[in-house]
Amino acid sequence: MSNDLRCVVSVSGFRGIVGETIDPETVMKLAAAYGRSIAKGGSVVLGRDSRPTGPLFADAVATGLRGVGCDVIDIGVVPTPTVPLMIQEFGAGGGIQVSASHNPVEWNALKCYSPDGRNIDKKQLETLLQAYAAGGSWQSWSGLGRRTCDTSAPQRHIDAVLASVDSELIAKAGLTVLCDSVNGAGARVAPDLLEALGCRVVPLYANIDRVFPRDPEPNATNVRETGAVVSAVGADIGFVQDPDADRLAIIDEKGVFIGEEYTLVLCAAARMAAAKAAGVAEPVACTNLSTSRMIEDVAASLGGRVVRSAVGEANVLDAMQQEQAVLGGEGNGGVIDPRVVWCRDSQVGMALVLEYMARTGSKLSELVASIPTYAMHKEKVGLDRAAVAKIIDWLPDHAVAAGADIDVQDGIKLMWSDRWVHLRASGTEPVSRIISEAPSNDIALALADAVRGAVGAQVVTGH
Ligand code: MG
Repeated sequence: MSNDLRCVVSVSGFRGIVGETIDPETVMKLAAAYGRSIAKGGSVVLGRDSRPTGPLFADAVATGLRGVGCDVIDIGVVPTPTVPLMIQEFGAGGGIQVSASHNPVEWNALKCYSPDGRNIDKKQLETLLQAYAAGGSWQSWSGLGRRTCDTSAPQRHIDAVLASVDSELIAKAGLTVLCDSVNGAGARVAPDLLEALGCRVVPLYANIDRVFPRDPEPNATNVRETGAVVSAVGADIGFVQDPDADRLAIIDEKGVFIGEEYTLVLCAAARMAAAKAAGVAEPVACTNLSTSRMIEDVAASLGGRVVRSAVGEANVLDAMQQEQAVLGGEGNGGVIDPRVVWCRDSQVGMALVLEYMARTGSKLSELVASIPTYAMHKEKVGLDRAAVAKIIDWLPDHAVAAGADIDVQDGIKLMWSDRWVHLRASGTEPVSRIISEAPSNDIALALADAVRGAVGAQVVTGH
Protein backbone atom coordinates (compact mmCIF):
# COMPACT_ATOMS: atom_id res chain seq x y z
CA MET A 1 0.00 0.00 0.00
CA SER A 2 1.35 3.43 -0.83
CA ASN A 3 1.57 6.05 1.89
CA ASP A 4 3.98 8.83 2.80
CA LEU A 5 5.52 6.94 5.72
CA ARG A 6 9.33 6.99 5.71
CA CYS A 7 9.73 5.02 8.94
CA VAL A 8 10.14 1.24 9.23
CA VAL A 9 6.63 -0.30 9.34
CA SER A 10 5.93 -3.73 10.82
CA VAL A 11 3.62 -5.46 13.29
CA SER A 12 6.19 -4.70 15.97
CA GLY A 13 5.90 -0.98 15.39
CA PHE A 14 6.52 2.22 13.46
CA ARG A 15 10.21 2.98 13.96
CA GLY A 16 12.45 5.77 12.70
CA ILE A 17 15.14 8.36 13.38
CA VAL A 18 13.50 11.38 14.99
CA GLY A 19 13.36 14.37 12.65
CA GLU A 20 14.47 12.28 9.66
CA THR A 21 12.16 9.34 9.11
CA ILE A 22 9.66 9.87 11.94
CA ASP A 23 8.37 13.15 13.39
CA PRO A 24 5.60 14.43 15.71
CA GLU A 25 3.19 15.10 12.84
CA THR A 26 3.50 11.53 11.52
CA VAL A 27 3.15 10.18 15.06
CA MET A 28 -0.02 12.21 15.65
CA LYS A 29 -1.58 10.97 12.40
CA LEU A 30 -0.61 7.36 13.12
CA ALA A 31 -2.15 7.62 16.59
CA ALA A 32 -5.34 9.08 15.10
CA ALA A 33 -5.47 6.22 12.58
CA TYR A 34 -4.95 3.75 15.45
CA GLY A 35 -7.74 5.42 17.43
CA ARG A 36 -10.16 5.09 14.51
CA SER A 37 -9.23 1.60 13.33
CA ILE A 38 -8.06 -0.43 16.35
CA ALA A 39 -9.33 1.33 19.49
CA LYS A 40 -12.48 2.43 17.64
CA GLY A 41 -12.98 5.44 19.87
CA GLY A 42 -12.37 3.51 23.13
CA SER A 43 -9.85 4.39 25.84
CA VAL A 44 -6.16 3.88 25.10
CA VAL A 45 -3.30 3.20 27.53
CA LEU A 46 -0.28 5.36 26.69
CA GLY A 47 3.24 4.61 27.97
CA ARG A 48 6.76 5.52 26.94
CA ASP A 49 10.34 4.62 27.61
CA SER A 50 12.84 7.12 28.99
CA ARG A 51 14.43 8.46 25.80
CA PRO A 52 14.50 12.29 25.50
CA THR A 53 12.05 12.41 22.57
CA GLY A 54 9.50 10.37 24.57
CA PRO A 55 7.51 13.29 26.10
CA LEU A 56 7.14 15.01 22.71
CA PHE A 57 6.01 11.82 20.96
CA ALA A 58 3.69 10.90 23.83
CA ASP A 59 2.07 14.35 23.50
CA ALA A 60 1.68 13.80 19.75
CA VAL A 61 0.12 10.36 20.32
CA ALA A 62 -2.27 11.78 22.93
CA THR A 63 -3.28 14.61 20.58
CA GLY A 64 -3.98 12.20 17.71
CA LEU A 65 -6.02 9.88 19.92
CA ARG A 66 -8.02 12.64 21.65
CA GLY A 67 -8.68 14.30 18.29
CA VAL A 68 -10.55 11.21 17.12
CA GLY A 69 -12.47 10.86 20.39
CA CYS A 70 -10.35 8.34 22.33
CA ASP A 71 -9.75 8.90 26.05
CA VAL A 72 -6.05 8.55 26.88
CA ILE A 73 -4.84 6.90 30.09
CA ASP A 74 -1.29 8.19 30.39
CA ILE A 75 0.80 5.84 32.56
CA GLY A 76 4.09 7.69 32.01
CA VAL A 77 7.51 6.04 31.75
CA VAL A 78 6.97 2.28 31.98
CA PRO A 79 8.43 -0.95 30.57
CA THR A 80 6.80 -2.02 27.30
CA PRO A 81 5.04 -5.06 28.87
CA THR A 82 3.36 -2.73 31.39
CA VAL A 83 1.22 -1.29 28.57
CA PRO A 84 -0.53 -4.55 27.51
CA LEU A 85 -0.80 -5.50 31.20
CA MET A 86 -2.66 -2.24 31.90
CA ILE A 87 -4.92 -2.68 28.85
CA GLN A 88 -6.19 -5.79 30.58
CA GLU A 89 -6.33 -4.21 34.07
CA PHE A 90 -8.34 -1.21 32.79
CA GLY A 91 -10.34 -3.13 30.17
CA ALA A 92 -9.13 -0.48 27.72
CA GLY A 93 -9.74 -0.39 23.98
CA GLY A 94 -6.02 -0.58 23.24
CA GLY A 95 -2.57 0.71 24.09
CA ILE A 96 0.42 2.42 22.53
CA GLN A 97 3.98 2.38 23.85
CA VAL A 98 6.37 5.08 22.64
CA SER A 99 9.68 3.23 22.52
CA ALA A 100 12.40 2.27 20.06
CA SER A 101 13.43 -0.64 22.30
CA HIS A 102 17.18 -1.33 22.05
CA ASN A 103 17.79 1.22 19.25
CA PRO A 104 20.14 4.12 20.04
CA VAL A 105 18.91 7.45 21.38
CA GLU A 106 18.26 9.13 18.01
CA TRP A 107 15.50 6.58 17.27
CA ASN A 108 11.93 6.42 18.51
CA ALA A 109 8.90 4.33 17.63
CA LEU A 110 5.28 3.46 18.38
CA LYS A 111 4.39 -0.07 19.46
CA CYS A 112 0.68 -0.69 19.05
CA TYR A 113 -1.42 -3.22 20.97
CA SER A 114 -4.82 -4.70 20.33
CA PRO A 115 -7.68 -4.60 22.87
CA ASP A 116 -6.80 -8.19 23.94
CA GLY A 117 -3.35 -7.03 25.11
CA ARG A 118 -1.28 -8.49 22.28
CA ASN A 119 0.84 -6.81 19.64
CA ILE A 120 -1.32 -5.86 16.65
CA ASP A 121 -1.30 -8.54 13.95
CA LYS A 122 -0.78 -8.18 10.18
CA LYS A 123 -4.49 -7.69 9.49
CA GLN A 124 -4.79 -4.97 12.12
CA LEU A 125 -1.66 -3.30 10.75
CA GLU A 126 -3.26 -3.21 7.27
CA THR A 127 -6.45 -1.72 8.71
CA LEU A 128 -4.42 0.89 10.57
CA LEU A 129 -2.47 1.81 7.41
CA GLN A 130 -5.72 2.13 5.46
CA ALA A 131 -7.09 4.50 8.12
CA TYR A 132 -3.81 6.44 7.99
CA ALA A 133 -4.05 6.78 4.20
CA ALA A 134 -7.72 7.83 4.41
CA GLY A 135 -7.00 10.51 7.06
CA GLY A 136 -9.66 13.07 8.05
CA SER A 137 -12.67 12.74 10.35
CA TRP A 138 -11.53 14.70 13.40
CA GLN A 139 -14.02 15.19 16.20
CA SER A 140 -15.67 18.53 16.97
CA TRP A 141 -15.14 20.27 20.34
CA SER A 142 -17.71 18.15 22.09
CA GLY A 143 -16.37 14.82 20.88
CA LEU A 144 -12.69 15.11 21.88
CA GLY A 145 -11.18 12.52 24.19
CA ARG A 146 -9.74 13.31 27.64
CA ARG A 147 -6.20 12.66 28.87
CA THR A 148 -5.87 11.41 32.42
CA CYS A 149 -2.71 10.36 34.25
CA ASP A 150 -2.49 7.14 36.23
CA THR A 151 0.52 6.46 38.43
CA SER A 152 -0.48 3.00 39.62
CA ALA A 153 0.96 1.01 36.69
CA PRO A 154 4.46 0.18 38.05
CA GLN A 155 3.03 -1.19 41.32
CA ARG A 156 0.34 -3.17 39.48
CA HIS A 157 3.06 -4.67 37.29
CA ILE A 158 5.11 -5.58 40.37
CA ASP A 159 2.06 -7.19 42.01
CA ALA A 160 1.35 -9.27 38.89
CA VAL A 161 4.93 -10.61 38.79
CA LEU A 162 4.99 -11.27 42.55
CA ALA A 163 1.84 -13.37 42.22
CA SER A 164 3.54 -15.57 39.59
CA VAL A 165 6.44 -16.89 41.71
CA ASP A 166 7.13 -18.21 45.21
CA SER A 167 8.25 -14.90 46.72
CA GLU A 168 8.92 -16.40 50.17
CA LEU A 169 11.24 -19.01 48.71
CA ILE A 170 13.20 -16.31 46.84
CA ALA A 171 13.37 -14.06 49.93
CA LYS A 172 14.72 -16.92 52.05
CA ALA A 173 17.63 -17.38 49.61
CA GLY A 174 18.94 -13.91 50.61
CA LEU A 175 20.33 -13.10 47.16
CA THR A 176 22.25 -9.97 46.21
CA VAL A 177 21.18 -8.77 42.76
CA LEU A 178 22.70 -6.10 40.56
CA CYS A 179 20.13 -4.57 38.20
CA ASP A 180 21.37 -2.47 35.25
CA SER A 181 18.39 -0.69 33.67
CA VAL A 182 20.57 1.36 31.24
CA ASN A 183 18.65 4.44 32.56
CA GLY A 184 15.62 2.99 30.75
CA ALA A 185 12.02 2.35 31.71
CA GLY A 186 12.91 -0.82 33.62
CA ALA A 187 14.16 1.42 36.43
CA ARG A 188 10.50 2.23 37.21
CA VAL A 189 9.68 -1.38 38.04
CA ALA A 190 12.65 -3.75 38.33
CA PRO A 191 14.54 -2.43 41.43
CA ASP A 192 11.30 -2.22 43.47
CA LEU A 193 10.24 -5.67 42.27
CA LEU A 194 13.59 -7.16 43.33
CA GLU A 195 13.29 -5.54 46.75
CA ALA A 196 9.77 -6.89 47.10
CA LEU A 197 11.23 -10.33 46.35
CA GLY A 198 13.50 -9.92 49.39
CA CYS A 199 16.73 -9.41 47.47
CA ARG A 200 19.51 -7.00 48.38
CA VAL A 201 19.42 -4.75 45.30
CA VAL A 202 22.34 -2.90 43.75
CA PRO A 203 20.77 -0.63 41.12
CA LEU A 204 22.96 0.56 38.24
CA TYR A 205 21.92 3.16 35.65
CA ALA A 206 18.51 3.47 37.28
CA ASN A 207 17.95 7.16 36.52
CA ILE A 208 15.28 7.66 33.86
CA ASP A 209 16.16 11.36 33.57
CA ARG A 210 19.62 10.58 32.25
CA VAL A 211 20.56 9.46 28.73
CA PHE A 212 21.64 5.89 27.98
CA PRO A 213 25.20 5.44 29.28
CA ARG A 214 26.19 3.20 26.31
CA ASP A 215 24.78 1.52 23.24
CA PRO A 216 21.67 0.11 24.96
CA GLU A 217 21.49 -3.26 23.17
CA PRO A 218 22.22 -5.77 25.96
CA ASN A 219 24.94 -7.86 24.27
CA ALA A 220 28.35 -9.17 25.38
CA THR A 221 30.32 -6.11 24.24
CA ASN A 222 27.97 -3.53 25.71
CA VAL A 223 27.60 -5.12 29.15
CA ARG A 224 31.29 -5.82 29.84
CA GLU A 225 31.59 -2.93 32.32
CA THR A 226 28.46 -4.12 34.12
CA GLY A 227 30.00 -7.59 34.47
CA ALA A 228 32.98 -6.09 36.27
CA VAL A 229 30.61 -4.32 38.69
CA VAL A 230 28.69 -7.55 39.40
CA SER A 231 31.82 -9.32 40.61
CA ALA A 232 33.20 -6.19 42.36
CA VAL A 233 30.09 -5.81 44.55
CA GLY A 234 29.86 -9.57 45.20
CA ALA A 235 26.41 -9.95 43.64
CA ASP A 236 24.94 -13.42 43.11
CA ILE A 237 23.60 -12.37 39.72
CA GLY A 238 23.49 -9.34 37.43
CA PHE A 239 20.43 -8.44 35.35
CA VAL A 240 20.67 -6.13 32.33
CA GLN A 241 17.56 -4.70 30.70
CA ASP A 242 17.12 -3.03 27.32
CA PRO A 243 15.61 0.52 27.38
CA ASP A 244 11.98 -0.66 27.26
CA ALA A 245 12.66 -3.60 29.59
CA ASP A 246 11.09 -6.36 27.54
CA ARG A 247 14.40 -8.19 27.08
CA LEU A 248 16.72 -9.51 29.77
CA ALA A 249 20.42 -10.39 29.69
CA ILE A 250 22.12 -12.14 32.60
CA ILE A 251 25.58 -11.98 34.18
CA ASP A 252 26.77 -14.72 36.56
CA GLU A 253 28.32 -14.23 40.01
CA LYS A 254 31.81 -14.19 38.47
CA GLY A 255 30.89 -11.25 36.24
CA VAL A 256 30.56 -13.40 33.10
CA PHE A 257 27.84 -12.50 30.57
CA ILE A 258 26.13 -15.85 29.94
CA GLY A 259 24.57 -14.89 26.58
CA GLU A 260 21.01 -13.96 25.63
CA GLU A 261 20.06 -17.54 24.71
CA TYR A 262 20.31 -18.66 28.35
CA THR A 263 17.61 -16.27 29.61
CA LEU A 264 14.75 -18.25 28.08
CA VAL A 265 16.39 -21.61 28.89
CA LEU A 266 16.76 -20.81 32.61
CA CYS A 267 13.24 -19.40 32.80
CA ALA A 268 11.83 -22.47 31.04
CA ALA A 269 13.63 -24.65 33.59
CA ALA A 270 12.12 -22.60 36.41
CA ARG A 271 8.57 -22.69 35.02
CA MET A 272 8.65 -26.35 34.05
CA ALA A 273 10.01 -27.38 37.46
CA ALA A 274 7.30 -25.32 39.20
CA ALA A 275 4.55 -26.59 36.87
CA LYS A 276 5.64 -30.20 37.46
CA ALA A 277 5.58 -29.61 41.21
CA ALA A 278 2.05 -28.22 40.80
CA GLY A 279 0.91 -31.41 39.03
CA VAL A 280 1.13 -30.48 35.32
CA ALA A 281 1.90 -33.79 33.59
CA GLU A 282 3.92 -32.44 30.64
CA PRO A 283 4.51 -28.67 30.75
CA VAL A 284 4.97 -27.06 27.32
CA ALA A 285 7.29 -24.19 26.40
CA CYS A 286 7.08 -22.48 23.01
CA THR A 287 9.83 -20.75 21.09
CA ASN A 288 10.80 -20.01 17.50
CA LEU A 289 12.73 -22.26 15.14
CA SER A 290 15.96 -20.23 15.39
CA THR A 291 16.32 -20.40 19.18
CA SER A 292 18.94 -22.65 20.81
CA ARG A 293 18.12 -26.34 21.35
CA MET A 294 19.29 -26.05 24.96
CA ILE A 295 15.62 -25.59 25.82
CA GLU A 296 14.87 -29.11 24.48
CA ASP A 297 17.59 -30.54 26.76
CA VAL A 298 16.16 -28.72 29.76
CA ALA A 299 12.60 -29.78 28.89
CA ALA A 300 13.68 -33.42 28.49
CA SER A 301 15.37 -33.40 31.91
CA LEU A 302 12.22 -31.99 33.54
CA GLY A 303 9.60 -34.08 31.74
CA GLY A 304 8.45 -31.15 29.61
CA ARG A 305 8.03 -30.55 25.89
CA VAL A 306 9.02 -27.78 23.47
CA VAL A 307 6.87 -26.57 20.57
CA ARG A 308 8.53 -24.50 17.84
CA SER A 309 6.88 -21.75 15.79
CA ALA A 310 7.89 -19.46 12.92
CA VAL A 311 10.10 -16.54 13.93
CA GLY A 312 8.26 -13.50 15.36
CA GLU A 313 6.62 -12.80 18.71
CA ALA A 314 3.09 -13.14 17.28
CA ASN A 315 3.84 -16.67 16.05
CA VAL A 316 5.25 -17.68 19.42
CA LEU A 317 2.15 -16.25 21.14
CA ASP A 318 -0.15 -18.18 18.77
CA ALA A 319 1.69 -21.41 19.54
CA MET A 320 1.52 -20.68 23.27
CA GLN A 321 -2.24 -20.15 23.15
CA GLN A 322 -2.77 -23.27 21.07
CA GLU A 323 -0.59 -25.46 23.30
CA GLN A 324 -1.62 -23.86 26.61
CA ALA A 325 2.09 -23.37 27.23
CA VAL A 326 3.43 -22.47 30.67
CA LEU A 327 6.09 -20.24 29.10
CA GLY A 328 7.27 -18.88 25.78
CA GLY A 329 9.86 -16.59 24.33
CA GLU A 330 12.73 -16.08 21.97
CA GLY A 331 16.50 -16.44 22.12
CA ASN A 332 17.09 -12.70 22.34
CA GLY A 333 16.33 -12.62 26.08
CA GLY A 334 12.56 -12.23 25.67
CA VAL A 335 10.45 -14.32 28.06
CA ILE A 336 6.63 -14.50 28.07
CA ASP A 337 4.69 -15.82 31.06
CA PRO A 338 0.98 -15.91 30.14
CA ARG A 339 0.00 -15.64 33.82
CA VAL A 340 1.43 -12.09 33.84
CA VAL A 341 1.12 -10.64 30.32
CA TRP A 342 1.15 -11.81 26.67
CA CYS A 343 4.31 -9.89 25.97
CA ARG A 344 8.05 -10.34 26.52
CA ASP A 345 8.83 -9.08 30.02
CA SER A 346 12.31 -8.80 31.59
CA GLN A 347 10.73 -8.47 35.06
CA VAL A 348 9.06 -11.87 34.59
CA GLY A 349 12.45 -13.27 33.53
CA MET A 350 14.17 -11.92 36.66
CA ALA A 351 11.61 -13.41 39.03
CA LEU A 352 11.75 -16.83 37.35
CA VAL A 353 15.56 -17.05 37.33
CA LEU A 354 15.71 -16.03 41.00
CA GLU A 355 13.05 -18.61 41.83
CA TYR A 356 15.10 -21.28 40.03
CA MET A 357 18.26 -20.30 41.95
CA ALA A 358 16.33 -20.36 45.22
CA ARG A 359 14.65 -23.70 44.44
CA THR A 360 17.91 -25.43 43.49
CA GLY A 361 20.19 -23.62 45.96
CA SER A 362 22.72 -23.42 43.13
CA LYS A 363 24.92 -20.59 41.98
CA LEU A 364 24.05 -19.20 38.57
CA SER A 365 27.32 -20.41 37.03
CA GLU A 366 26.51 -23.95 38.29
CA LEU A 367 23.04 -23.84 36.72
CA VAL A 368 24.53 -22.72 33.42
CA ALA A 369 27.22 -25.42 33.59
CA SER A 370 24.53 -28.09 34.10
CA ILE A 371 23.02 -27.34 30.67
CA PRO A 372 24.69 -28.95 27.60
CA THR A 373 26.56 -26.31 25.60
CA TYR A 374 26.39 -25.68 21.88
CA ALA A 375 27.99 -23.29 19.46
CA MET A 376 25.76 -21.17 17.24
CA HIS A 377 26.72 -19.72 13.87
CA LYS A 378 24.73 -17.00 12.09
CA GLU A 379 25.19 -15.51 8.63
CA LYS A 380 23.26 -13.62 5.97
CA VAL A 381 23.17 -14.93 2.41
CA GLY A 382 21.98 -13.43 -0.88
CA LEU A 383 18.70 -15.31 -1.32
CA ASP A 384 15.29 -13.64 -1.40
CA ARG A 385 11.99 -15.10 -0.23
CA ALA A 386 11.10 -16.54 -3.66
CA ALA A 387 14.45 -18.33 -3.88
CA VAL A 388 13.94 -19.89 -0.45
CA ALA A 389 10.43 -21.04 -1.43
CA LYS A 390 11.91 -22.99 -4.39
CA ILE A 391 14.71 -24.46 -2.24
CA ILE A 392 12.13 -25.89 0.18
CA ASP A 393 10.86 -28.09 -2.68
CA TRP A 394 14.08 -29.99 -3.29
CA LEU A 395 16.43 -29.57 -0.33
CA PRO A 396 14.79 -32.37 1.72
CA ASP A 397 15.90 -34.86 -1.00
CA HIS A 398 19.47 -33.52 -1.16
CA ALA A 399 22.37 -35.38 0.51
CA VAL A 400 22.83 -32.48 2.95
CA ALA A 401 19.48 -33.37 4.54
CA ALA A 402 20.28 -37.07 5.02
CA GLY A 403 18.83 -38.41 8.26
CA ALA A 404 17.37 -35.04 9.27
CA ASP A 405 13.96 -34.20 10.65
CA ILE A 406 12.58 -31.36 8.56
CA ASP A 407 10.43 -28.35 9.49
CA VAL A 408 9.14 -25.97 6.79
CA GLN A 409 6.97 -23.62 8.89
CA ASP A 410 9.38 -20.74 8.25
CA GLY A 411 11.97 -21.41 5.54
CA ILE A 412 13.53 -24.84 6.06
CA LYS A 413 15.11 -26.29 9.17
CA LEU A 414 17.09 -29.54 9.21
CA MET A 415 17.41 -31.17 12.62
CA TRP A 416 19.48 -34.04 13.97
CA SER A 417 19.76 -35.26 17.57
CA ASP A 418 22.40 -32.72 18.64
CA ARG A 419 22.54 -30.15 15.82
CA TRP A 420 20.40 -28.17 13.39
CA VAL A 421 20.60 -25.68 10.55
CA HIS A 422 17.85 -23.21 9.59
CA LEU A 423 17.54 -21.27 6.31
CA ARG A 424 14.89 -18.55 6.34
CA ALA A 425 14.10 -15.41 4.37
CA SER A 426 14.44 -12.12 6.22
CA GLY A 427 11.17 -10.29 6.90
CA THR A 428 12.71 -6.88 6.22
CA GLU A 429 15.39 -7.27 3.48
CA PRO A 430 15.81 -9.36 0.28
CA VAL A 431 18.30 -11.67 2.00
CA SER A 432 18.12 -14.86 4.02
CA ARG A 433 19.68 -16.05 7.22
CA ILE A 434 21.44 -19.31 7.82
CA ILE A 435 21.64 -20.19 11.50
CA SER A 436 23.23 -23.40 12.71
CA GLU A 437 23.87 -24.89 16.13
CA ALA A 438 26.04 -27.88 17.01
CA PRO A 439 28.22 -29.25 19.85
CA SER A 440 31.24 -27.35 18.46
CA ASN A 441 31.91 -24.20 16.47
CA ASP A 442 33.57 -26.21 13.68
CA ILE A 443 30.54 -28.45 13.23
CA ALA A 444 28.15 -25.46 13.31
CA LEU A 445 30.20 -23.72 10.64
CA ALA A 446 30.48 -26.90 8.54
CA LEU A 447 26.69 -27.31 8.66
CA ALA A 448 26.16 -23.75 7.41
CA ASP A 449 28.84 -24.28 4.75
CA ALA A 450 27.14 -27.48 3.54
CA VAL A 451 23.70 -25.85 3.21
CA ARG A 452 25.11 -22.69 1.63
CA GLY A 453 27.01 -24.84 -0.86
CA ALA A 454 23.99 -27.03 -1.62
CA VAL A 455 21.74 -24.03 -2.39
CA GLY A 456 24.50 -22.11 -4.22
CA ALA A 457 24.27 -18.98 -2.06
CA GLN A 458 26.86 -16.31 -1.27
CA VAL A 459 27.49 -14.85 2.16
CA VAL A 460 26.39 -11.23 2.50
CA THR A 461 27.67 -10.66 6.02
CA GLY A 462 28.65 -12.83 8.96
CA HIS A 463 31.09 -15.69 8.75
MG1 MG B 1 12.99 -4.01 23.80
